[in-house]
Amino acid sequence: MPTIAVDFDGVIHAYSKGWHDGTIYDPPMPGALDALRTLMRDYAVFVHTSRNPIQVSIWLREHGFKTRIDGGLLTFWNERDVLLVTWNKLPAIAYIDDRGIRFESWDQALAELRAVTKESR
Ligand SMILES: [Mg+2]
Repeated sequence: MPTIAVDFDGVIHAYSKGWHDGTIYDPPMPGALDALRTLMRDYAVFVHTSRNPIQVSIWLREHGFKTRIDGGLLTFWNERDVLLVTWNKLPAIAYIDDRGIRFESWDQALAELRAVTKESR
């Protein structure tokens, strides 16, 4: 079963104020919950976050998902009916992330990074 990684902040959690006080303060991103349910029909899905996975797991459960927390020992994820929450970068065929730069070559990646860092200054 193919695996998809989904970032939490800015992708599932709207994250309109950035890190703020460290709480999960926003509602879900529009379409996020339906998209996760759709993905879970065809893929093993894990939520990849730099937050404590317990905090994210509680929020996802409050929004109707069955979750499992990676205690740090998993090397892959291939279950379909439950969302794994992890702070490890496990293998996946695609990573959905609001801060990603798609790598094609170093020239292109560095050029895109320069454009992004210029915008945020
Ligand atoms: Mg993010």
